[in-house]
Amino acid sequence: MRFVARFLVHIRSFASVYGRKPDSRSISASSQLPTRHALQRYKHHDRCNACLQNQLQRINSNPCIGSDADSLELSARLFSMVQQVLRHLYLVAIINVLIVLIKPMMEAAAFRVDLLSQVPAEVLPIPVDHIPILALRNSWHAPRDTNRRHEGIDIFAKRGTPVRSTTRGVVSRIAKSKLGGNVVWVLGPGGQRHYYAHLQQAANIRTGQRIDAGTLLGFVGNTGNAKHTSPHLHYGIYTPTGAVNPFPLLRPKSSDEHDSQ
Ligand SMILES: [Zn+2]
Repeated sequence: MRFVARFLVHIRSFASVYGRKPDSRSISASSQLPTRHALQRYKHHDRCNACLQNQLQRINSNPCIGSDADSLELSARLFSMVQQVLRHLYLVAIINVLIVLIKPMMEAAAFRVDLLSQVPAEVLPIPVDHIPILALRNSWHAPRDTNRRHEGIDIFAKRGTPVRSTTRGVVSRIAKSKLGGNVVWVLGPGGQRHYYAHLQQAANIRTGQRIDAGTLLGFVGNTGNAKHTSPHLHYGIYTPTGAVNPFPLLRPKSSDEHDSQ
């Protein structure tokens, strides 16, 4: 009977080792096996390469363990992909913001460079609407108070008559001054600065605005030190080396020539 009982114990220990994959519980269970034979079996099972492959196959074939591992791996991959996409979107957003911020500045700079490289026109349209050439008077360098010379010409017209830019350029300043009243400065070709003064008011323009010849700048008035004079436009041209006389440059606009016929 003792022999039979020992044989049954061997059978049970054998089954406990080979019947399921070894884990902490099986190790614990096998360590409690009463026979040396079973321990040797277990050690062999635990170290043998073929048995390890067997164990891996069992783990992989276990639907619960396999699906959990797959899910974890899939989640990790998705998380990594989302991180990469977010990183790219973040980069694209930064680039777009930089483009939005820098592009206007680059365009304005390019426009100014182009403007400065241009040769100033030798003929300019009269900046006040409906003024015939014969109505112009050359008041360049006429004496003014306190030993001043008139650096421009005065073009008389009805109050509120439109004043237009003689050139393309950039509105460099819109201001109110003691002498000029409401004034507009335009940076034109060749770096020349065009000065429009005594305006009743400036038009709907802004500093830094790129304009073409003929753009409405304001309306004839008598603001500044012209408040006791008839409404007129004071028009001056300042080159990098000083003021020049606009009178010989001015010609009627084609539309005004058409009107006078
Ligand atoms: Zn003047």
